[in-house]
Amino acid sequence: MNYSPQKNRYSSMIYNRCGASGLLIPAISLGLWHNFGGVDNFENYRNIIIKAFDAGITHFDLANNYGPPPGSAEENFGHILKSDLAGYRDELIISTKAGYFMWDGPYGDWGSRKYLIASLDQSLKRIGIDYVDIFYSHRYDPNTPLEETMGALDFAVRQGKALYVGISNYPAEATKRASEILRKLGTPCLIHQPRYSMFDRWVEEELLDILDEEGIGCIVFSPLAQGLLTNRYLQGIPSDSRAAKPHGFLKKEQITAEILKKIEKLNEIAKTREQSLAQMAIAWLLKDKRVTSVLVGASSSEQLSINLKSIQNIFFTEDELEIIDKTLKME
Ligand code: NDP
Repeated sequence: MNYSPQKNRYSSMIYNRCGASGLLIPAISLGLWHNFGGVDNFENYRNIIIKAFDAGITHFDLANNYGPPPGSAEENFGHILKSDLAGYRDELIISTKAGYFMWDGPYGDWGSRKYLIASLDQSLKRIGIDYVDIFYSHRYDPNTPLEETMGALDFAVRQGKALYVGISNYPAEATKRASEILRKLGTPCLIHQPRYSMFDRWVEEELLDILDEEGIGCIVFSPLAQGLLTNRYLQGIPSDSRAAKPHGFLKKEQITAEILKKIEKLNEIAKTREQSLAQMAIAWLLKDKRVTSVLVGASSSEQLSINLKSIQNIFFTEDELEIIDKTLKME
């Protein structure tokens, strides 16, 4: 396979400090939720990962359940790490998570210490590494004391199996409490991973301010609303798109006439900025200094190349922001 990374790979990426930590992460990170599983094409996802690394993407985001089947994205990433990126572990930020259903019985789901610690061990085996850079609690568990879940994250760091910890999908109030607990334990919360896009702006209400105050970084997922905020669905539903795949999380029913009207209008606005809609949607997130990184997905290296160009223009005029807001509120 003989891959040797581009020598100039760090020259065009922007690296942002993650909250109040010492860690810099790229403005664009790559997520392996879809397109890297056992059902996907090896050469295609290998190309995406290599393209990403060559373009200065140092951060690759996994979870125990990514696939399908669950666990296969970690295994596949592990193979590429071993064959292509073996000499580059210290240039990579690899994250994984536990919080959603993984195995039968009472210990394979949610937020207990029992589940999180066992799951991290399994993830490390699948990826074939001794430690992850970031270990996340994937979702808030209202039935487990937050002290227990945060204690498990702290324990993972003390075991040497994670360097930093994060939380994902936690509501604002639970985030504040989690941050306080982790700080007392001596393992500050590095990062929060919420969903955020033009189509889903819940983080703007409270969460982003809390993260700022607490010195927690923010890496946002599904920035393109799983592909809606691109030109992908403007001429119907392509057979190779996420919405057409049986295991895709984007459902055909979500592509309504109302959504398409907004996408068309946003596409026109993007053209006036000399960006594609995908590029504008990513840039629109990065304009906020509280957003440390935008976690994109891609089903081809061409999509990733397009998305990477977003960082060339993350400035918006007041007029542009206003017309985007109006479009998003359009009935
Ligand atoms: P996006 O919103 O970026 O959607 C990615 C999809 O959009 C691609 O698979 C592709 O769809 C389409 N796309 C991407 N770029 C383009 C382009 N330039 N032109 C046209 N279509 C494009 O993100 P994801 O929903 O994939 O989420 C990203 C990552 O966030 C995940 O991999 C995961 O790491 C993380 N995540 C975390 C969650 C959590 O609970 N913490 C939940 C969900 C995601 P197509 O396949 O149709 O080509």
